[in-house]
Amino acid sequence: MSTTLTIQPRPIDPSVDHEIQAIVSGAGSGSTCNTDLAAGPWDFDARPGYGPGASMGDVIPTGSPRQGMLPQAYRDASDDELDARIRRAKETLGDRVVVLGHFYQREEVVRHADYVGDSFQLANAALEHPDAEAIVFCGVHFMAETADLLSQPDQAVILPNLAAGCSMADMADIDQVEECWEQLEELYGDMDTPDADGLVPVVPVTYMNSSAAIKGFVGRHGGIVCTSSNARTVLEWAFARGRRVLFFPDQHLGRNTAKAMGVPLEQMPMWNPTKPLGGSDEQTLADARVILWHGFCSVHRRFTVDQIDKARAEHPGVRVIVHPECPMAVVDAADEAGSTDYIRKAIAAATEPTTFAIGTEINLVQRLAAQYPQHEIFCLDPVVCPCSTMYRIHPGYLAWVLEGLVEGETLNRITVPASVADPARVALERMLAAKPSGSAA
Ligand code: SF4
Repeated sequence: MSTTLTIQPRPIDPSVDHEIQAIVSGAGSGSTCNTDLAAGPWDFDARPGYGPGASMGDVIPTGSPRQGMLPQAYRDASDDELDARIRRAKETLGDRVVVLGHFYQREEVVRHADYVGDSFQLANAALEHPDAEAIVFCGVHFMAETADLLSQPDQAVILPNLAAGCSMADMADIDQVEECWEQLEELYGDMDTPDADGLVPVVPVTYMNSSAAIKGFVGRHGGIVCTSSNARTVLEWAFARGRRVLFFPDQHLGRNTAKAMGVPLEQMPMWNPTKPLGGSDEQTLADARVILWHGFCSVHRRFTVDQIDKARAEHPGVRVIVHPECPMAVVDAADEAGSTDYIRKAIAAATEPTTFAIGTEINLVQRLAAQYPQHEIFCLDPVVCPCSTMYRIHPGYLAWVLEGLVEGETLNRITVPASVADPARVALERMLAAKPSGSAA
């Protein structure tokens, strides 16, 4: 009689923090981009910068929100104690609170989330709880703003650590964008009047990863918001209304999407806000189809074609999927490119054991590896380097804001002023109404 032996897959630890602590203490193999990642994020709250991680080399704008010192009791608490305190506070608050966790958030926080998703999925999840008093957004600043735009006026949206900004969103500063618009207006003439073909000179398009001020600007100027899932549909919407698109803040998402739609690279000049005419000339801007803002994500910029070549050499048959915030050469060299949701669904849909090399944030990759042990899933970048701003939300901050709510105190509320919120909602509504070409109206 033959016996079938079932080999149980080895459990994989989804915690990037555990891996970083092990590497830094010498107990683990591999490397991290910065050993300070093993320290408490509160060690960096008072310093100007994004803290250790993938965005640490980026310049943080003066005036970015700073986080006051986290009370000592939370800084001293062990992981287990914080875990128990968060659970207790959530239990006490019940339906009064909804906790949202972004895909890139650390495991120790995500495990307490009622919903896990990308920024737009999470904002929509909050909509399902109009009676909750508070929405605790374990993501970054622009995500909390978007949730505030979409939630009920009496709901408080809370960002557990105010220093959790987004370096990419910060690269499109509203003053610089206004200045760019003025320069383009001088060049193209009246921006509001359509030409004989019914097209205005420029339609502004902003990625969801931008401040509410930028979404408001876009709403005021006939523009629209996009996500990494619907960027093509949104660009089609914009080209049906304008000669050109001004796309911000992420040059890579703009370039990768427009290139896939057949826009030649020479018709996609970059706008560098520190240079006159963005560093371009009048003729190039006259011929442009997409003007790309000089912004990028420091997490996705880390991925390279060499990493893909190495993955292919070491893992024959590997399926390489990268996020469209990666540089164009990386997207071109990969087998597929898609949003975090696309990556997650592609892995979930694989019926045969598969090796996946993924080009996106390490916390998501590690969680997927733990969730699907039948596949081999690894991050293309061998250096453990999380999104530094996402990493600012340590469980200590989550415990602090939740216990604050239990005590009747709303800490770290994010509120978008009405003058910005109204046009920003218009830009979001246009996105929701945009349909892919060929689909029914
Ligand atoms: S992963 Fe990139 S775009 Fe996302 S929050 Fe971090 S820096 Fe911003």
